[in-house]
Amino acid sequence: MNWQQIQTQLKELGERAYRADQLRKPVFEEGIASYEEISTWPESLKKALSNQSPILSLTLREMTASQDQRCRKAVLECKDGKKIETVLLRPSDARWTTCISSQVGCAVGCPFCATGLMGIKRNLVAEEITDQVLFWRQFMKKEKIAGRLSHVVYMGMGEPFSNYAEVSQSLKILMDQSLFNLAARHISVSTSGIAPKIALFAEDFPQVNFALSLHAASDELRNRLVPVNKAYPLSKIREALKAYLQKSSRKIFLEYILLKGTNDRPKDAKDLIGFVRSVGPLELLHINLIIFNQTDSPFEATAEKDARIFQKKIMDAKIHSTIRQNLGRDIEGACGQLILKQ
Ligand code: SAH
Ligand code: SF4
Repeated sequence: MNWQQIQTQLKELGERAYRADQLRKPVFEEGIASYEEISTWPESLKKALSNQSPILSLTLREMTASQDQRCRKAVLECKDGKKIETVLLRPSDARWTTCISSQVGCAVGCPFCATGLMGIKRNLVAEEITDQVLFWRQFMKKEKIAGRLSHVVYMGMGEPFSNYAEVSQSLKILMDQSLFNLAARHISVSTSGIAPKIALFAEDFPQVNFALSLHAASDELRNRLVPVNKAYPLSKIREALKAYLQKSSRKIFLEYILLKGTNDRPKDAKDLIGFVRSVGPLELLHINLIIFNQTDSPFEATAEKDARIFQKKIMDAKIHSTIRQNLGRDIEGACGQLILKQ
């Protein structure tokens, strides 16, 4: 739903401002799926809006659920026929999180990531980004799932900072108290490292969680694993992260997928420790070690016991770290597994 457009349309139809107010809460908080459910509206108005502006700009094409029901993946079709994926996660009993896409595909081309392997088709507009959250609110209402969808991570398909204008607009809509009303601290944005946008993000959204997909701490290896590193090498990333910390003073999450024999060697741990120490105060930096989800690529996951050994080296250097639990592997709904034939 494009709220601005709806407001204009209501005005054009000669409606007073309170009509919009009657629509706001049912759509954004309660997740109603059709204008029919707005009991305070006259039939003629319901009909006019249904024809002009459907509540959701995306259409459900496919839905899968993991066996434990903690991860659901939906394939949604945009108005131009392009398809995106979005994931609903229940990492703990008390929390519902959605992992949303910011582009159809991705141009960065990380060789371990399924989205990267499909290339870029186009950017999503803010409405298509926020409609993924709206879709899951509607889904939870329809399925009578208790609880509130309160957390959003921009870790689906695409590189959010290559679509900064629309992503930034979508963040404002998600945090707007009269619309989605999500807390900034419950939203996370992850980037592969578009350096000039990192400081800008700290300025624009100092309270939103920020993650950088590091994956390697030497330029030679990172050029290969995260090809955007050729444009923005580690020296630029370091400066950008320092600028971020000056502006935001929030903790930065550094994502590091462990790939067997590629970036999990003792030298890699040493490089990683060196890089983190060169960025800033250790209490403001947190390494998320991610267990690789298999994709159609030559990479293999580091065994869990070796991941623990790698983690110990980092913790011995007094750097905070966790090994990230991944949900939804059985339905290819986990990070980096999102791919779609268009
Ligand atoms: N493009 C952005 C955000 C989307 S990717 C970025 O790269 O940060 C979200 C996260 O999933 C990133 O940390 C990414 O590196 C990780 N990821 C990609 N492929 C993965 C895979 N096969 N297994 C585990 N994590 C993966
Ligand atoms: Fe794009 Fe992120 Fe996948 Fe890299 S990991 S190809 S930046 S979506």
